[in-house]
Amino acid sequence: MDKKLQELEKILGKHRMRVDEPMSAHTTFKIGGPAQYYLDVATIDDLVKAVAAAKKLNLSVFIFGGGSNVIVADSGIRGLVIKNNCRRFEMASMTGKIKNRQLNVDRALVYAESGVIMNQLVRFTIDQGLSGLEYQLGLPGTVGGAVYMNSNFPKKDAYVGDSLYRAKLLAKDGTIHEVDNSYFHFAYDKSILQETGEILLSAVFRLDKEDKKLLWERGTEALKYRDSTQPKGASAGCTFRNISIVDAMAIPTPQRITSAGYLIDKAGLKGKRIGDAMISTMHANFILNMGQARAQDVLTLVELIKSEVNKKFRAPLHLEVKTVGF
Ligand SMILES: Cc1cc2nc3c(=O)[nH]c(=O)nc-3n(C[C@H](O)[C@H](O)[C@H](O)COP(=O)(O)OP(=O)(O)OC[C@H]3O[C@@H](n4cnc5c(N)ncnc54)[C@H](O)[C@@H]3O)c2cc1C
Repeated sequence: MDKKLQELEKILGKHRMRVDEPMSAHTTFKIGGPAQYYLDVATIDDLVKAVAAAKKLNLSVFIFGGGSNVIVADSGIRGLVIKNNCRRFEMASMTGKIKNRQLNVDRALVYAESGVIMNQLVRFTIDQGLSGLEYQLGLPGTVGGAVYMNSNFPKKDAYVGDSLYRAKLLAKDGTIHEVDNSYFHFAYDKSILQETGEILLSAVFRLDKEDKKLLWERGTEALKYRDSTQPKGASAGCTFRNISIVDAMAIPTPQRITSAGYLIDKAGLKGKRIGDAMISTMHANFILNMGQARAQDVLTLVELIKSEVNKKFRAPLHLEVKTVGF
């Protein structure tokens, strides 16, 4: 009998752990080998407890939300994989002026656990007439993944980090601390969590009062844009980060376009396929799993793209998706 499994069950409860759980069942790419130990958590206390248990047993931890931005190795992930299903969110507070015995809200704080589905949170905030997250309508995944990646709607320069006010983090040493927006050093596709390895437990977003109809219009615009520019099918979203404006000027691209998809397209790679991994013909920065693609097929395609784009434009491309288990 597996000793670590016994210990995990002792701490976290019997029959909760899954052993050798195929990660392909939990990623939007439908790719990924087995997680050595896999656990669903639905409360923050449980999440913290699971991380502490892994630490005690010298197991590495990988936490994921929607699995919409990861490539998991074919050989899988060693250690404990935690699926974050902590989905509580609520209005935390409101400020405004009393007029005719009615509170005219001008700002509100909304609390969300890190496993909350972004789309649910966005819909809730729009429905409350609160502005800040509306352009994230149609963004797959959870609050945790969105903060970790500082996910965005680039057409409007709208980032999830823009409206983050406060957050609770679990540090690697097991301590929990509260931080404000400046802690995250948000940048394009980046937050400090990618360096520190801290886990986002919960977040508070600061949102401004806005006309609900206008918010739905903005949200719908973003949703339609995503729908019309992103291919359907199994993928992990954009594969590469866009290039810098300096690189775009040096190439130069028309209108200084920084889109990695544009470069991949111009390198003639749309539709290129390795195994069942194929560069989308609709949006060249998306790699699609056409059936039984392996992570290795995707990575071979990634290397090919990097080399062809570099040959043609002398522009290095960097992965946006996160790789795990390699
Ligand atoms: C069809 C499609 C469309 C997409 N469109 C967009 C788009 O318009 N804009 C955009 O920016 N992105 C887009 N993406 C990428 C992706 O959806 C986002 O990056 C999303 O925010 C990731 O969230 P997730 O919960 O799925 O993260 P996951 O894939 O589960 O995890 C991503 C990374 O975040 C880490 N992480 C997750 N939760 C936590 C936590 N609580 N604490 C610390 N680290 C954590 C994971 O360990 C992992 O390294 C798209 C993806 C797909 C498949």
